[in-house]
Amino acid sequence: MKFIEQNAWQYLSVKLPAVGAFLLLVIIPLLQWLVDFEIIPKEYHGYITGGVMVFLSWLGKKIYQPKLHQVPLGFVAVTAGHSNSDPGAVNGKFKEAELVTKFRNAVELYLLRAGLTVKTDGQGTINLPLTNAIHIIRGSSTAIEFHMNAASNKQANGIETISLPKDKKLAKALSKAVAEAFGSRLRGDEGWIDQSQSAHGKLGFVSNGGLIVELGFISNEAELSAFNEKYWLAAKAVAEVIIKHEKGV
Ligand SMILES: [Zn+2]
Repeated sequence: MKFIEQNAWQYLSVKLPAVGAFLLLVIIPLLQWLVDFEIIPKEYHGYITGGVMVFLSWLGKKIYQPKLHQVPLGFVAVTAGHSNSDPGAVNGKFKEAELVTKFRNAVELYLLRAGLTVKTDGQGTINLPLTNAIHIIRGSSTAIEFHMNAASNKQANGIETISLPKDKKLAKALSKAVAEAFGSRLRGDEGWIDQSQSAHGKLGFVSNGGLIVELGFISNEAELSAFNEKYWLAAKAVAEVIIKHEKGV
């Protein structure tokens, strides 16, 4: 995550008048000397000192503010796994791509309510493919994609988040939030799966800096029911983890 510098001293439109005030310690005695010796008329004294301040303020804004605006503003990217043409795992009438799209929308809503800037891989029922998702997450401060696991063993269960080792803490917090909301257990290292140990192998989304949250097993009837009944609750908990992460608390 990134903080935008809030220090007013960075803005030279603030700094320059201060520098100007310092210069006036030199300029004022000089002006006084010029007035005393009648080199310049007395009434110009005020105009010159005021003019220096206005000029320095204008110069600071003109020169330095465009540079500050080049600092990228942070945004959170939340994307749904698979796409409208690739359903992902399926259990009866339930398709992974559709469930995680609903989850993405719910997380987005809570993030927007908290005042964060959010980018998604589609609105409503739109779920763009992975190539779009990878493009969308570029420049984000946090990028998270939602999936559901599936296994031939119907008992397989639990929540996990796949990430690079640098995002281990956030991955664990996300899994914990989901597991608590659904009453599920954590898989891997307290909910964290190192990308190199993932059954999926190397994931494009994770290689590009994102985290993949597996919101339980669609193939497990109990976890599928928990998802359908409580996904809003889990989405709210996930959003709270992201908000805390973004705010650095
Ligand atoms: Zn998936």
